[in-house]
Amino acid sequence: MEVLDLELQTLVEQVSLEDFGLAFEHQAVWNNRLRTTGGLFYPMDCHLAFNPLMYQRLTSIQFRQIIRHELCHYHLFRQKKGYQHRDRDFKNLLAKVDGLRYSPKVMSKKYRIYQCQKCGQEFKRVRQIDTKRFRCGRCSGKLIYQTTRYM
Ligand SMILES: [Zn+2]
Ligand SMILES: [Zn+2]
Repeated sequence: MEVLDLELQTLVEQVSLEDFGLAFEHQAVWNNRLRTTGGLFYPMDCHLAFNPLMYQRLTSIQFRQIIRHELCHYHLFRQKKGYQHRDRDFKNLLAKVDGLRYSPKVMSKKYRIYQCQKCGQEFKRVRQIDTKRFRCGRCSGKLIYQTTRYM
């Protein structure tokens, strides 16, 4: 599902003007189905789609680099230059604006952090654990769920 968002639209327009000196004149939307891809460019109607998970989990600088990457496709396509990854034009422009070459892989894995109430030892687990049954391996203290992070 694609979701229009004024904030995203404004951000993309801003990055386009500031980093490319060119206006972004189409739509930028969130796409909840994207998993490992940061964003997508659609040559059919020139809209851009972005992965909301990347926005949540990356720093604003990294997300801006993803926007730059998609804008490289966008502006080169409109200028009728080589807008695909393998094209020299694309590589040059991406390097010039400091865009992200590949989507970061960090997003895919999620893990939970538990902490021992007694000795303070932290445990990272990909799977959820039953804190009633499992105890700290060092002191057999009670484990408490802390937070969920992404690798
Ligand atoms: Zn791309
Ligand atoms: Zn412990």
